[in-house]
Amino acid sequence: MAMRILVTNDDGVFADGLFALYQALSEVGDVTVVAPERQQSATGHAITLHKPLRLSPVSLRDGSPAFASNGTPSDCAALGILEAMGGAVDLVVSGINHGPNLGWDVHYSGTVSAAIEAAMVGHASVAVSVASWDKDIHWEPVAKFAAQVAKRLQTQPLPPHTILNINAPNLPQSALQGVAVTTQGRRQYVDRLEKRLDPVGRPYYWLGGSLAEEAAGAEAGSDVRAVADGKISLTPIHLDLTAYSLLPALKEWDSDN
Ligand code: MN
Repeated sequence: MAMRILVTNDDGVFADGLFALYQALSEVGDVTVVAPERQQSATGHAITLHKPLRLSPVSLRDGSPAFASNGTPSDCAALGILEAMGGAVDLVVSGINHGPNLGWDVHYSGTVSAAIEAAMVGHASVAVSVASWDKDIHWEPVAKFAAQVAKRLQTQPLPPHTILNINAPNLPQSALQGVAVTTQGRRQYVDRLEKRLDPVGRPYYWLGGSLAEEAAGAEAGSDVRAVADGKISLTPIHLDLTAYSLLPALKEWDSDN
């Protein structure tokens, strides 16, 4: 039986990256698309509890049917799994995001959160990003890689509640330096708040900032470093945020009382 794949994203249902992913995964299985009706980047794992959620039929640029929702990326994963696909889902793939989801970015990411939502309810899931804000993006190489990963997962399934996070540099296939299996690196933003004055003199603010360190100097073996080195990064992530190294010290606190 063909693999039943849900595709979602956080850049919106009409984003270029989603269409590239849809096309590539259609070679691997039956793809259902449920994605936000508008841009929802950096919405993290927000879910909608205080207003009605809608699913509206739309057409992708090649005429293929899809669903747009007024919900967040995580809402879209839930709506896709429970309603559009009636629970009959073999794999959820979120992306292809236009922008990095490296290191600590995953905590802000709508793309990764949609994949995490799927993993929480027991579905295999993958997040896919091109780690670049360039205007022109090479979608095809990473779309093709995502399709290979999907195919691989048919015979070598992930353990429950784990997610694959894929980030590619914005390079054509010929310039890619291969694939690296990586750890989640560090990515810290500094100078995050910009304060300006509006025309009547009241302050307003932009959140953003720049990266604290150069990607080329990032830890060896990390996702940040792999992408800086021109490689597609493949990072297995999971939901457990426990700092295991702190457990022994914290247990000492008890006996000190
Ligand atoms: Mn995005």
